[in-house]
Amino acid sequence: MTEQNEATNAKAGAAIIPVTPFQQNCMLLWCETTRKAVVIDPGGDVTAIRAAIDQAGVTVEKIWLTHGHVDHVGGADELREQLGVPVEGPHIGDQFLLEHVVESGRGFGITGVRNVTPDRWLEDGEQLTVGELRFQVLHCPGHSPGSVVYFSDAMRFAIVGDVLFAGSVGRTDLPGGNHRTLIRSIMDKLMPLGDDVGFISGHGPGSTFGQERVSNPFLNGEM
Ligand SMILES: [Zn+2]
Ligand SMILES: [Zn+2]
Repeated sequence: MTEQNEATNAKAGAAIIPVTPFQQNCMLLWCETTRKAVVIDPGGDVTAIRAAIDQAGVTVEKIWLTHGHVDHVGGADELREQLGVPVEGPHIGDQFLLEHVVESGRGFGITGVRNVTPDRWLEDGEQLTVGELRFQVLHCPGHSPGSVVYFSDAMRFAIVGDVLFAGSVGRTDLPGGNHRTLIRSIMDKLMPLGDDVGFISGHGPGSTFGQERVSNPFLNGEM
């Protein structure tokens, strides 16, 4: 069996842990074959994230960040310290946000967060693995300059952070945001992946690219 076939046959498990007052969808994602896992966007509430890891009985080997906003990264440094695993992502375009997490949290009334320096910045097109699961990194600026999306071709599934939501798109009024850039990222990078691709966002329910292409007012020409 080739590596490609193994990846195609690989099965995943996942748990969503809503964290911070923003109810951000922190995700624990694991490979069922190896029970190796990644925590994506640990924005805070590290105790709740640890409980979800214990309940799933998986071994976390890395932390991935979709972008540098406090509700996505506020607990990353603490979780890294507790688990002894590296923080990967987002794109270096969000370095200025990751260096000011504490300050930003204060503005939103969020305490107990830390600034975080990732062990590794990610580039567009990079391939990442979790056990036998494979993900491609897509740099999708607009909501923030360094936003990235994690896409599994085998599972037809993407983790999009705050780039795209069911019925909406990410806000672009925060530092480094740009609405035109955001729409271009979605139309040029995400939509070509296929209508059948399901996704989970940083907030709220998931959807599919096809559903959003047709009904999302920011993408279908209504707005
Ligand atoms: Zn955000
Ligand atoms: Zn968010």
